[in-house]
Amino acid sequence: MSSAEPTIFERIIAREIPADIVHETDTIIAFRDIAPQAPVHLLVVPKTSRYRDVAELAAGDPALLAEVVATAQLLATEHADGHFRLIFNTGANAGQTVFHVHAHVLAGGLTEGSLAH
Ligand code: 5GP
Repeated sequence: MSSAEPTIFERIIAREIPADIVHETDTIIAFRDIAPQAPVHLLVVPKTSRYRDVAELAAGDPALLAEVVATAQLLATEHADGHFRLIFNTGANAGQTVFHVHAHVLAGGLTEGSLAH
């Protein structure tokens, strides 16, 4: 559930802070990561702040999770060659810093075998 303090992504969704938005529907927004780790590094973010991470999203709304994956595929096709790496950092000890579920879509010139984000 959303906490009292809105996350940075809620503020981007509300247009309170700017972002380079590349895709938006009623349920999902996607924008460029401010600190890109690959030639194409996009964040695909469900607009709802109900789910903190992908495990909660999978349990609570699997159709919305499928929409996140389909959006990643669409954007990888639009912005690169259609191949992509999809990363969901889940929990602070795994590197999650924003507790509003989001997928990192990395594409374009990825190093083979690297799992680094
Ligand atoms: P996490 O570490 O939670 O998996 O991913 C959070 C991501 O959000 C990071 O890759 C970070 O660079 C990105 N990020 C943090 N603040 C902002 C911001 O204000 N704008 C954008 N576009 N990305 C941000």
